Amino acid sequence: MTSGPLLELDAVEVSYGGAIRALSGVSVAVPAGAFVALIGANGAGKTTTLKAAANLLPVDRGAVTAGRISFEGEDVTHQPVHRLVRRGLVLAPEGRRCFRSLTVEENLITGALGRSSTRAEQREDLDKIYALFPRLTEVRRSPAGLVSGGEQQMVAIGRALASRPRVLLLDEPSMGLAPLVVEHIFRALKRLTTESGLAILVAEQNAAIALRHADRAVVLENGRTALEGDAKALAARGDVKAFYLGRA
Ligand code: ATP
Repeated sequence: MTSGPLLELDAVEVSYGGAIRALSGVSVAVPAGAFVALIGANGAGKTTTLKAAANLLPVDRGAVTAGRISFEGEDVTHQPVHRLVRRGLVLAPEGRRCFRSLTVEENLITGALGRSSTRAEQREDLDKIYALFPRLTEVRRSPAGLVSGGEQQMVAIGRALASRPRVLLLDEPSMGLAPLVVEHIFRALKRLTTESGLAILVAEQNAAIALRHADRAVVLENGRTALEGDAKALAARGDVKAFYLGRA
């Protein structure tokens, strides 16, 4: 264990083949237990950054071409996904993907399939997820495809949590959801980091909500880290307000 950040991206560059350079210098540090927001306009490189960290770039074309990704100080830039997951680096992708015909509870259980867990451990994981999102208790036996968008997002997060991550990478959890639901989800995420020591890196187009709840934030512009710092301090800057928070 090092005293540095748990997850660190240092000057990472990603190419999608040919002349398309999606990232051209992204640096992000995620300390243990921190809630870090990755904000930026459409196409700034937020999703690509998360996929690079999780080694989930499209195999046929996307690749990290420069820079370094480290986990607990060790270079993991090209480490296979299953090994990253086993170490505790887990991505919950955009679009709240779940198995639509399985029940909510079955979906949550699938999150733990990658590791060997006893029934008691499984129960413990489920109890924690239901404590975090009490709403899911009420719909536990419903097919995931039939519950609301907010509940599906909670299922997607719950599934990722069932794999017991140490760093959770979360892509655009607010997408398509009502403001109150988004607020509820971000509060739960913040609580997770403070109470369980989990670190979260959330990519979010909704900068206002992300900066309100995160400890630190990274602003991406055209595939580069443009700003990095305390989330509240960034939210107070005139340029951040004007470009990302919709007011000067
Ligand atoms: P959004 O909020 O729209 O998802 P983003 O900040 O997450 O935006 P990315 O999706 O990471 O941005 O895209 C960064 C750049 O990489 C964009 O120019 C995009 O067109 C390009 N890109 C993303 N995925 C691919 C892909 N599979 N193949 C080729 N180019 C891609």
